[in-house]
Amino acid sequence: MKAGTIDLHLHSTASDGRLDPAALAAHARACGVQVMALTDHDTTAGLAAAAAAAEALGMTFIPGVEISADWRGRSVHVLGLGIDPGGGTLTRGMQQLARERERRATEIARRLDAAGAPGTAVLERVRGLTGNPTRTHFARALSEMGAVFSLAEAFDRYLGRGRPAAVRSQWPAMADAVSWIRAAGGIAVLAHPLRYLLSGGARRELCREFQQAGGLGIEVVCGGGSATQQEQAASLALRTGLAGSVGSDFHDPAIPWNRPGRLAKLPAAVPAVWTDPTFPLALRETA
Ligand code: MN
Ligand code: MN
Ligand code: MN
Repeated sequence: MKAGTIDLHLHSTASDGRLDPAALAAHARACGVQVMALTDHDTTAGLAAAAAAAEALGMTFIPGVEISADWRGRSVHVLGLGIDPGGGTLTRGMQQLARERERRATEIARRLDAAGAPGTAVLERVRGLTGNPTRTHFARALSEMGAVFSLAEAFDRYLGRGRPAAVRSQWPAMADAVSWIRAAGGIAVLAHPLRYLLSGGARRELCREFQQAGGLGIEVVCGGGSATQQEQAASLALRTGLAGSVGSDFHDPAIPWNRPGRLAKLPAAVPAVWTDPTFPLALRETA
């Protein structure tokens, strides 16, 4: 398969992406993507529509999810690729995550109100959207209602760490997220491993624990990542014996520097997750 045609990390309106699942598939195809995974935050609701659209466009579709999880009190993101969204264990996990997102959304709104921002109105707006409520939805709503000038300001003033509407999430343990993915027949990939604020030693420990929990790989090539970051992630994969994945983390076509499929090649030394015997068969055959 040609480089730059695989993108295993994309978002739709089922979470905080700007394109609905079918439009996302069309956009990815127009950007040259041949193999796509839809990986919305904590939901599989967009998979059926995206799969139908991708297949109609002649693409290979990998059903996925990006699960919010806890590792030693920090939020980490675990991608599940090649999952069967109908499985009981994963479905119960998604229900648990939806309850936590709902609890957090209500609490964010309450705290926004207390901080003098239009929390209740923002929550109504967020609830009127199709997707699972994320902090990005709150930031966009605050901006659209004129309470802030930008998404960055929404996080700086209200939603970011240490700000008045920062609500601590109670995500499932990382090992549980991995086990849900494996129970659904998928492989687990630690998303954007360099984005977590950790020392080098702690990052390697995170990767080792991820592997011990049954994780297969880490994202080595991420959208917007620099060449240096890719080298760091590649050496992290090689040192910890994890495979490598590639994904843009695309959300929004208005952000021109993060298009689907616009990704560097996975360094040759790092085994690709899609060549692993446990990866979904369709992709092994085309790779
Ligand atoms: Mn997102
Ligand atoms: Mn993420
Ligand atoms: Mn993502």
